[in-house]
Amino acid sequence: MDEWWRAGDSVWREDAATSTRFVLEAVQGVPRIDWELARNRLTDVALLVGAALPTTCTHAAIFPPEFSFCPECGAALHRAGPVQHAAWWGPATGLLPPGAATLPRHVPHGLSQTALPLGEALEGREPEPAVGRPDWRMPAPPNAVCVFAAADFGFSAQRLVALAYTRNVVQYWDPPGARWHVFAADEGAADLHFTASAYAWLPPAESQGERRRGEFGIVPTAHGLFRLVVNPLAESWRTEPVFQARLAASPGGVGRRIACPFVTPDGVRLWSAAADGADPEVLEIDPLDPAVPVPQAGWSRPFSYDGRLYWLHEEGQLLWRPGHPPRWLPWPFPWVPRLQFGGPARSRDGRLWLIGNDGANYSFRALDDGAGLGTPQVESIDGARLGFGTLLFRRGHQVKDDPWSVEDVEDQARGDALVLPLLEAVSATRDQPSGLVLRFPGFTGRAEAALAGEVLPRTFVEWIGRQNVILDEIARLKNPGECVPFVWHGSLWLHHPTWNEIRGWKLEGFA
Ligand SMILES: [Zn+2]
Repeated sequence: MDEWWRAGDSVWREDAATSTRFVLEAVQGVPRIDWELARNRLTDVALLVGAALPTTCTHAAIFPPEFSFCPECGAALHRAGPVQHAAWWGPATGLLPPGAATLPRHVPHGLSQTALPLGEALEGREPEPAVGRPDWRMPAPPNAVCVFAAADFGFSAQRLVALAYTRNVVQYWDPPGARWHVFAADEGAADLHFTASAYAWLPPAESQGERRRGEFGIVPTAHGLFRLVVNPLAESWRTEPVFQARLAASPGGVGRRIACPFVTPDGVRLWSAAADGADPEVLEIDPLDPAVPVPQAGWSRPFSYDGRLYWLHEEGQLLWRPGHPPRWLPWPFPWVPRLQFGGPARSRDGRLWLIGNDGANYSFRALDDGAGLGTPQVESIDGARLGFGTLLFRRGHQVKDDPWSVEDVEDQARGDALVLPLLEAVSATRDQPSGLVLRFPGFTGRAEAALAGEVLPRTFVEWIGRQNVILDEIARLKNPGECVPFVWHGSLWLHHPTWNEIRGWKLEGFA
């Protein structure tokens, strides 16, 4: 007769006839367990639920949590201690769940920035001109156009999820098995495709109550906002509707409110709600110029700054401060932004600026209510500048003061290069901007061409900081703006949709 064990928050059945002897029957907060699938990744499952594994005996393949010795022979069992790593949610607005390294208030949220101390860990490597190599390579997920999140999702171990938003696929990395698993959608789950605008999700907000297991956050789809919940014990995912409508852009969060532009027969409106989707409202958008309608697609990822949410578009910007009507501000003709150059840059007085071109010259335009009014909050510059936040470059030279300041020329030869920032490390203890960049030596063409499919013969993956470190060299890169950096398992990783492997660099001394 089977024996039942309740251990921690899980229930196990002991059946000597099964191949694993112990069978996980239930885990609190997990709706379903597919043991046929789960037993193929026993080590991974043991880490997720805090179970024990055999060391020397073969009386069972897995033991319930709280077991220290095999009940049959007394052999000691192996229980992995919790490994604490900061969670990674990618560029995110809104409230972050516990475990994430939250950015300070004085920087915009939603750009490619992190508060993790990457520089301290990477700058111990041999500095340039030495060319390093990745410490790790992991296979790219089968559906390579994706965004990454690394968190414990309410389980006992941190895991990496790659969400392929152009293909409706949720991919899960099994670290002990060193392979990706494509999770199946539960019946009735929403289709996760979203390509109308740049992709961004809202991580699960910090809640007062119990953390929901598997909660990934609120994601945009073609048919609205859905809460995505993954279940690694059944290799599946499900969704719950939050707001059903045709979305114009990805959702953003500011303070305790979230918001998302959506399409109605009468044009674009802004939906807003509390962080958990409660207390929704629909807001009319105040047009500066009724002749220029609010675009229904093609928006960049939203960011928040100074209590306000921003969505940027080739045609203008949408601003919203909770408690006020949202405003649509078209750019004054003939100025057109260069959104592909990175994103808004921050001046020393704390204002944000966007680079663009009026057909003849580049300039930075202040992003605020006056930006669309034609008032001359514009700083002219003599060439393209790539970056965002305070990590900004004019060709190969870093721009260190205001976005329009003269670049810092440490090495004349660098003028022959182009640098594209990928990830800024925000630190209170550094006075110079640090971060991960791509350097294209000897590239003398236009920045627009480098970002638009031209083959770049040589690319250095480079850390810019107290000392610069070349992490790798890449041949024949195309579309460098599609690189996705992320931090997971004590390493910095760089993914590109055309690469077979994700490159990883160990962050020495990094918890
Ligand atoms: Zn034993």
